[in-house]
Amino acid sequence: MTGIIDRYRQYLPVSERTRVITLSEGNTPLIPAPRIAEWAGAPGLQVYLKYEGMNPTGSFKDRGMTMALTKAVEDGSKAVICASTGNTSASAAAYAARAGIRCVVLIPDGNIALGKLSQALVHGAEVYAVQGNFDDALAMVRQVSETSPITLVNSINPFRIEGQKSGSFEIVDVLGDAPDYQFMPVGNAGNITAYWKGYKEYRAHGKSRKLPKMMGWQAEGAAPIVRGEPVKDPKTIATAIKIGNPASWKQAVAARDESGGGIDAVSDEEILEAYKALASLEGVFCEPASAAGVAGLKKYARTDEAFSRSRAAVVCILTGHGLKDPDRAMAVVPRPRTIAPTLDAIQRELKI
Ligand SMILES: *Cc1c(COP(=O)(O)O)cnc(C)c1O
Repeated sequence: MTGIIDRYRQYLPVSERTRVITLSEGNTPLIPAPRIAEWAGAPGLQVYLKYEGMNPTGSFKDRGMTMALTKAVEDGSKAVICASTGNTSASAAAYAARAGIRCVVLIPDGNIALGKLSQALVHGAEVYAVQGNFDDALAMVRQVSETSPITLVNSINPFRIEGQKSGSFEIVDVLGDAPDYQFMPVGNAGNITAYWKGYKEYRAHGKSRKLPKMMGWQAEGAAPIVRGEPVKDPKTIATAIKIGNPASWKQAVAARDESGGGIDAVSDEEILEAYKALASLEGVFCEPASAAGVAGLKKYARTDEAFSRSRAAVVCILTGHGLKDPDRAMAVVPRPRTIAPTLDAIQRELKI
């Protein structure tokens, strides 16, 4: 069984003797999306979707978690802990189960998509709902990990970033070079940090010639980096990026500035429009937070005419699977119509 550690061993901090905790994560599809380019008003762009929902627990967090759990076990840790808007806990719980160690999860009360919560619970994590938001939960787990023998596996754990940089490697391996632009959602900002690190390292190894402009997108109601100050009470339907004080804030700003990219915000309406467009125009079902980067692509194409007329290679990172949150999908589509069990009834509906 091979996952990202076996595939990219020479770029990762592991040795021959390291026991690898893996679920065969990574190697996710890079799907050409010409209809999304058209939808964004930029039909010349070569748009690709990196479908991270195809990872074992349905999000990119698995890339980081295989490294975090591998190193935790190597260092003799018997337990891991994380704060989570959902996907981190689902992934931590699965990889901890595989490693045979304890997993403790703190989630913001009432804000977790059911798919994600069910994963953490079924994998046997000890889950606590904190009467507060993600930022409160993260502050708590930081303190616990500093004072107790329990390993923190949020993205402030440097091994998470190491694993997640494999996403850039895969994109370069498929395209033969880095893309011109990468559009992605930004929450706690670990992923934009990891991708930028990966692109820079791969180029230093002679695997690519270019570096992409990193285009990060926050939700309007949870856009601390765009506003330049923490948001006390973040609000957005995109729960995976509902974060008011990102842990990797500085690194995200560095990725933006070093790459000549940008970090901006999109509204919940724009996010849901992109979410529906991805599903109905390309057949790709992602979760709402994942669609923030694609909403950003449309917004950016509207404001930058040279870009929208170009043939640039653009990769959008679709961070998580749509099935994580079916309630959200059902809230934005019409319900099925009920009909009689007759040929006549269906033919009348179909008008054929
Ligand atoms: C974690 C997550 C994000 C945000 O990633 P950060 O590294 O926190 O910026 C976006 N989308 C999904 C689906 C996620 O699970």
